[in-house]
Amino acid sequence: MDDCLFCKIVAGEIPCEQIYSDALVLAFNDINPVADTHILIIPRQHIRSLNDLRPDNDAVLAHMMQVLPKIAQQQGLDNGYRTIINTEKGGGQVIFHLHIHLLAGKNLAGFH
Ligand code: AMP
Ligand code: ZN
Repeated sequence: MDDCLFCKIVAGEIPCEQIYSDALVLAFNDINPVADTHILIIPRQHIRSLNDLRPDNDAVLAHMMQVLPKIAQQQGLDNGYRTIINTEKGGGQVIFHLHIHLLAGKNLAGFH
């Protein structure tokens, strides 16, 4: 997608603080962290949001989940972490390229 910020990060046109990378996904620090650890995990391919998932996205979606504990272990998040996916405007999505927020650290706001 030409006009997508996260596609530009995938293409290397916009820099990021990379945390993890493989053939299917990329993970990097959020530019405006709301927790001690705030990492975004994105698919390399452009998928707008959860609402746009197709059956042939199953593998990449499962892979995004599988890399979460790997990244958490690499980052030393032994005490656990929170994952959030915002979907479309009503869900607070601002960047319309699917991403998982990985949040951890002291003083995570309550979420019950
Ligand atoms: P969402 O509201 O779920 O769409 O989250 C988008 C996230 O992308 C926000 O937490 C932003 O701080 C983050 N963000 C925006 N631009 C960049 C960027 N260039 N590099 C890293 N994170 C970014
Ligand atoms: Zn994109």
